[in-house]
Amino acid sequence: MNILYNGSMNSLLRINFFNINKESIKYICILLIFLVLPLIWGGCVKEEAITNPEEIPQPDPVDENDLMDRVLRIDILSMDVKLEYIPDEDVLTGESTIEFRMRPNQTIPLIHFDPAGSDTIGTIILNGVELDFNDPSDVKMISFDETTQDGVELLRECGNDKINILTIKYRIGYSNSYKSFYSNVNDIYGVGNEVIFPSINCPSDLSKHKMTFSVVSDKDYSFIGSGKVVETGSNKNRKWVLDTEREVASYTIMWMMVPEEDIDFEEREVDGIDVRIMTYKDSVSIDSAFEILESWLPELRANIGMFPMERGLDVFLTQRGGGMEYFGATITSLSALEHEVFHMYFGCSVVAKTYRDSWWDEAINMWYEYSAAGSVSPVNQNFSSNIVSGRTPVSVGFDDRAYGDGARVIESIAIEMGGRDTFIAFLNHLYSNYTFSPFNTFELVEYIFNYSGIDFEDKIINWLYKGTRVYYSASGTEGRDYHKVDMTPPYEIVKKYKRK
Ligand SMILES: [Zn+2]
Repeated sequence: MNILYNGSMNSLLRINFFNINKESIKYICILLIFLVLPLIWGGCVKEEAITNPEEIPQPDPVDENDLMDRVLRIDILSMDVKLEYIPDEDVLTGESTIEFRMRPNQTIPLIHFDPAGSDTIGTIILNGVELDFNDPSDVKMISFDETTQDGVELLRECGNDKINILTIKYRIGYSNSYKSFYSNVNDIYGVGNEVIFPSINCPSDLSKHKMTFSVVSDKDYSFIGSGKVVETGSNKNRKWVLDTEREVASYTIMWMMVPEEDIDFEEREVDGIDVRIMTYKDSVSIDSAFEILESWLPELRANIGMFPMERGLDVFLTQRGGGMEYFGATITSLSALEHEVFHMYFGCSVVAKTYRDSWWDEAINMWYEYSAAGSVSPVNQNFSSNIVSGRTPVSVGFDDRAYGDGARVIESIAIEMGGRDTFIAFLNHLYSNYTFSPFNTFELVEYIFNYSGIDFEDKIINWLYKGTRVYYSASGTEGRDYHKVDMTPPYEIVKKYKRK
């Protein structure tokens, strides 16, 4: 995701240390200091801490893996999703079959599905048994303190030793003024594709996706999307089968289905990569996009490695605003195109373990851009923030301080490692060795140590695990439309659909 503004900040005293997989003793010590110091200092600190229950520090460090198991519960292996878009009725029907295993010590499965409700869910079948969404002994909507992501809990015991199969059929409202149907993920808000099909909204829940798209309309439609896309049928009976061919995070699946009469489309090979670019008719220059890619793709190949997605790159160009990266695809403006394509390497194939760890994919991305222009300065000696520890590992959305402060943290690391070229060589190493192997912030620190012999752990704790400011997507950016990708077509298209 690319953003183009600086937001306001909330100040709140809240300290979370959830990441204890490596240096748990150190964390406990730090936590004790935070708990004990206010008692020693007394007075204002103590008083402040009790004025608002939210300001009381978290009592105990929590094991990250255990928390993820408890909150996410299942590990999805594969998804087969059939989606039919009915533009004239503003309706979408879906049938999703999910193969999953229970995560360690979990027995009752759940799934994220935002539109779940008695008016949307048709059938739920779990391991051959039909469950009634309206029967509280079958299905329950649940929420967790640690995350804004609600779950649909399916009240049947599932063993750890087998693959479980869940099928959900549903019908949801899908209103779109321009009669197009597209993925609309916003990782800053934490909104993934669970608004369209049941999934687990977490960067490290990787699974194979096969998705079949169809449309009921008098119009011919065109389609681009992530992975391998095969078109079947003709004219108004077209179907598109999207196959990711490998395990990817659900929130990185992109598709764009739009009336053919409203688009321009061109496919070219750039630096050996198949690139398909679609945009609204008579809007953005497809040539300009290809021109950018003609230099950008070879640069990234030379510096970081071969383009990660063998099926190439699908781009839907919007007229303005930022963009969003997906697996082998992006919906973006021209100005954010380079940023989103960089995410094919960091964000979509080198993957963060949790959303809170995904600060580094934005930070590395922004650092690469800023450092090329010589416009990034390292953080100062006393810099501290809670970009990572301000939230739990299961919170969705990342902290958008990643763009500015995060890039400066990377610059500090790069300088100590030997400069821009050395850090780019490290990015090449990271990309070569850890693609589709999700890792968290402390694992990144370990990889840097193994590569350079420099231990950044103490500094990283200070830079990313201290400080008291809560400023993150789920609460901090609510209602800010300017975070969203702007899909508005040119006026000629807007006008056409307004008349109806
Ligand atoms: Zn981004």
